[in-house]
Amino acid sequence: MPYPCLTLLLLLLITSANLVQASSKVLLLNSYHPQYTWTEELTHGVRNALAKDIAQENIYIEYMDKRRYIDDPVYNQKLIDLLQYKFSKNIPDIIIASDDAAYRFMLQYGDTLFPNIPIVFCGVNVFDPSDLTNNPNITGIAEGMDIEGNLNLITQVQPKVKKIILIGDTTGLGLRMVGAAEKIKNLWQKKSSKKHIEITILDDFSLPELYNTLGQLPADTAVLLMAIHKDRLGAYFSFQEDLPKLSASSSVPVYGMWGSLMINNGAIGGMMNDPYQHGSNAAKMALRILAGTAVKDITVKESALYQPKFDFLQLQRFHINEKQLPPNSKIYNKPDSFYLKNKSLIDSSIAIFIFLSFIIALLYRNILQRKNAQNKLYQFNIDLENTVRERTLELEKSNEELQKASALMSSFAHTDSLTSLSNRRSANQEIPTYMKRHSISQQGFVLGIVDIDHFKKINDNYGHQIGDDILIELAQTLNNSLRPNDRVYRWGGEEFIIALPETSMHEATAICQRLSKNIAAISIDNISNITVSIGITSLQKHDSYDSIIHRADTALYQAKENGRDQIVTG
Ligand code: GH3
Ligand code: MG
Ligand code: MG
Repeated sequence: MPYPCLTLLLLLLITSANLVQASSKVLLLNSYHPQYTWTEELTHGVRNALAKDIAQENIYIEYMDKRRYIDDPVYNQKLIDLLQYKFSKNIPDIIIASDDAAYRFMLQYGDTLFPNIPIVFCGVNVFDPSDLTNNPNITGIAEGMDIEGNLNLITQVQPKVKKIILIGDTTGLGLRMVGAAEKIKNLWQKKSSKKHIEITILDDFSLPELYNTLGQLPADTAVLLMAIHKDRLGAYFSFQEDLPKLSASSSVPVYGMWGSLMINNGAIGGMMNDPYQHGSNAAKMALRILAGTAVKDITVKESALYQPKFDFLQLQRFHINEKQLPPNSKIYNKPDSFYLKNKSLIDSSIAIFIFLSFIIALLYRNILQRKNAQNKLYQFNIDLENTVRERTLELEKSNEELQKASALMSSFAHTDSLTSLSNRRSANQEIPTYMKRHSISQQGFVLGIVDIDHFKKINDNYGHQIGDDILIELAQTLNNSLRPNDRVYRWGGEEFIIALPETSMHEATAICQRLSKNIAAISIDNISNITVSIGITSLQKHDSYDSIIHRADTALYQAKENGRDQIVTG
């Protein structure tokens, strides 16, 4: 099939499912009066279900008031006339008949008052399918009655109950329910599992008598209130007004099956059905018919849904534990638990608590990590400091060794190994400094060269070792004979240089004489009378190191020439 055709078909299907015209007129015919809670809720269910499809002004709601005007043929005729008058010109497209009275009324007068108008019924307790054989234009949902379901429930909730009192009356529904109850009673008396339960049916009483009876029942008894419209004296029984009083005066729990009519009015609970659901379901059925579904294609539902419902306050009053109730029970008036009462506050507190705990855990982990890192850093610092200290000590030690080695090297470089006097290199470095200092201060500075006379012969005669010993001894003598600030160097071989700071030539001569005298006193291996020749010169204005050495050397040469063992001034 090509796509455009398919789309068109789908469109047709969709629109045909919504063919209800907002202008369609719906008549809701209620059996009772508007203030009757049951009727009120059922009406509410109808109106809510119709609200989307039917304009509000096209919903007509009539109340037959058949609880207050029971079996009154005059009233009945006036009602027929009224409805006929009202709706002959304003014919409804569909009628919803709620509860037994309206349903029976429509069975009887529907054809006359509303010929060919489809009827949907609901809330009908006493339903006989054969009534519809000649009425193909009627369908609906029967309410039924669940007497046996309630008896079973009572024996489950109160297993110690030995006697159940069923209350009905002799009018309408009450009468029919009493009939149904009689059958169940007979059935139970034959059932071995139920034989021990004594069933009593009460349908003939005045309300004071009923209060009195219920007030004196023993604890092993329960009451199932089926239906009461009027007592023996014709007094009207109102669920809103009278049930609370009846329940209060009763020494045992009062069960029932009429949902919101009984809950909150003193009934402990029961297998109950819900008027709102009746109304809502019937209205949906009506909409289907208005949308085109044939009445005959909508099968009648013979019973509404009965569910266990309880009043928490009555359960408490009779000390019945919730655990005794069927698991699918609905419990009314149960105070919310502390959690439910403060759900949003508790939930948000828990959320905040979890969030804060998470943050605290994060912070705590962070602190631990930081502490750990700090400890590691601290340990690392200690290790580092120790390493640095060790390295520094090692460095200091090797520096010290290096300094020692360097000092040793330097002393080796500047010391004569044989005599331990400062050597020629040392003289070359120090003497120019002395000269510079003295040339600035203009104080006298005398330089002398001391040379051992005929030393070669000593070596030749006594050996080189003896010559060395004499050199050592002589060096010692030179050192001892000079003043603390005087300096002596081994110039080379058997020649020595003496540097005499702040000294005049006169003083220098005297020093050299003392020197010569001390040298002459040296005696080694019977060798004595060692003499030296000395050339001395004082620092002159334009002297260089070479020139002063040269002049001293010349003076020394002159001393040798003059016959040795003498001091010559240059
Ligand atoms: P003069 O009086 O002219 O100075 O005569 P001299 O023999 O002292 O001088 P000469 O220059 O002829 O000889 C110097 C000698 O000194 C030669 C050398 O063997 C000796 N001599 C030089 N250095 C040393 C040394 O370290 N030890 C020893 N034992 N002798 C040395
Ligand atoms: Mg010499
Ligand atoms: Mg010599």
